[in-house]
Amino acid sequence: MQQERPTKERSTSFGYELVHTDRETGARAGILHTAHGDVPTPVYCPVGTQATVKSLDPRDLAELGAPMILGNTYHLYLRPGADLVERMGGLHVFMGWHGPILTDSGGYQVFSLRDLRQVDDEGVTFRSHIDGSTHRFTPESVVRIQEQLGSDIAMVLDECAEPEDHAYNAEALRRTHLWAERCLRAHGRADQALFGIVQGGIFADLRTASAAHLASLGFPGYAIGGLSVGESKADMHRILEVLAPILPTEKPRYLMGVGSPEDIVQCVARGVDMFDCVLATRLARNGAVFTPEGRLNLRNARFREDPNPIQADCGCYTCRTFSRAYLRHLIIAKEILAARLNTIHNLAFMLNLAKGARQAILEDRFGAFRDAFLAAYETADAQARRANRDAFRASRNADS
Ligand SMILES: [Zn+2]
Repeated sequence: MQQERPTKERSTSFGYELVHTDRETGARAGILHTAHGDVPTPVYCPVGTQATVKSLDPRDLAELGAPMILGNTYHLYLRPGADLVERMGGLHVFMGWHGPILTDSGGYQVFSLRDLRQVDDEGVTFRSHIDGSTHRFTPESVVRIQEQLGSDIAMVLDECAEPEDHAYNAEALRRTHLWAERCLRAHGRADQALFGIVQGGIFADLRTASAAHLASLGFPGYAIGGLSVGESKADMHRILEVLAPILPTEKPRYLMGVGSPEDIVQCVARGVDMFDCVLATRLARNGAVFTPEGRLNLRNARFREDPNPIQADCGCYTCRTFSRAYLRHLIIAKEILAARLNTIHNLAFMLNLAKGARQAILEDRFGAFRDAFLAAYETADAQARRANRDAFRASRNADS
């Protein structure tokens, strides 16, 4: 019913200022105002799934200058529970991080459970990955949970469909839009902004309809869900180009779960303001670190006696203090310090990348910034291809 649309612009402590748009590319520099401080955009948010960015504490995050972090509703709801977090003073107090926090709605995790969940128009029933117990999320319950957690930015419940199935995406989108309206009606916390989530897989018609519908509801910000879930990079870029002129210019745009360093640069060029991804922290715990030339795997024997830091011009604590040889030793010896030091560097790399992108946008040279970054940075795909080629050559030379 058109007349029952829950459009409401309420006065909150949240706001977004578009400071400058890069003349050539349309990349955006802005500022998010939240109840726990300002966030310059483009921004990369480290992921603190279970109310901790794995291996770091809030002092590390403050020293890194992380403007905002992400917590996962699904995980925190299951353990320790939103009621407990609320009784402990909310997520900021509970985890000792007093900067801005964004929470997802749990939709993505629940729909990743596949065999363990069942969806209907009212909500989604799922089984815990921890103990197999049965739970149910509804639009109202995920809003309530995020209000209990007290994040600065919350997400509506959405249905994340397989990106390449048009019929399923159309059906999932109908539910996602119903749920967005119900979330908006249920949401009451004035110091928290609730973002809508655009879905529709790799299909321009569905994405267009989704962005237009959600924009008509007047959310304070828009997330783009269901990308980087198995579709090609070309499809992801094409969909962002479809959405760029439709999403309201004066509201922030958040690309959920993306991405790698090259993704950040490519998607900022397509108008995205906010990112989160576990890649940087997960790779760090596996001994892989970012440099402007690409990833290094510190387990590699060639670093055994390498006295250099991971990245000569990086100002992070790890690079100021330790050699690649020492970091490799910690990884090989399975010391827990390895995870912490590598995580510090990878987050510094991502945060600096976002900062550098912002500065370039402000100076109308983002296109050149992007091109220089991509020319120097060998992506993991390219690295894998090169490794295969080298292995092929080595085997051919061995045969000859
Ligand atoms: Zn570093």
